[in-house]
Amino acid sequence: MSQKNPFAIEFSAMPLGKHDFEFDINNDFFESLEFSPLEKGTLHASVIFDKTQQQLFHVSLQIEGFVAVPCDRCNQEIEIPLEIDETLVVKLTEHEDECDLDEHIWVIMSSEHQLDLGHLFYELILTHLPIKKVHANKKDCGVDIITDLEHEQQKSEKKSDDRWNKLLDLLK
Ligand SMILES: [Zn+2]
Repeated sequence: MSQKNPFAIEFSAMPLGKHDFEFDINNDFFESLEFSPLEKGTLHASVIFDKTQQQLFHVSLQIEGFVAVPCDRCNQEIEIPLEIDETLVVKLTEHEDECDLDEHIWVIMSSEHQLDLGHLFYELILTHLPIKKVHANKKDCGVDIITDLEHEQQKSEKKSDDRWNKLLDLLK
């Protein structure tokens, strides 16, 4: 028998109404995901699963905790706190081509018996990360590395500007 998915909600036999679930998301979770840019984190998810009808559910999620990532400036590990609040509608369908997961509606086959929230947790965590992942306080960064890197970057930007300008000159 396959191992029970710890992030799955078994809904088919569930009575109508609201049901609460709690999940712990930790390093094992991130490590189990292939190609994940995230490897470390400790978060807790509280889920209210409202089976409003046999084919229609409302899911409210609250995820709180942090992920650990390398700082974009100095590469030292930093903890990024996250607080995610989301609601979505889950619909069951008979038609495979209608199956889809967008921001607020998740359509799955009516032959399914459980909802795997693991992938959803992961997507939500990824989309809520800041674009720039750096030490909040610049003093905490490995300063020498930054200045060098920024210097290099400015140099190469300038170089490509020069090339670009030369090309524009040629076209004149
Ligand atoms: Zn840093």
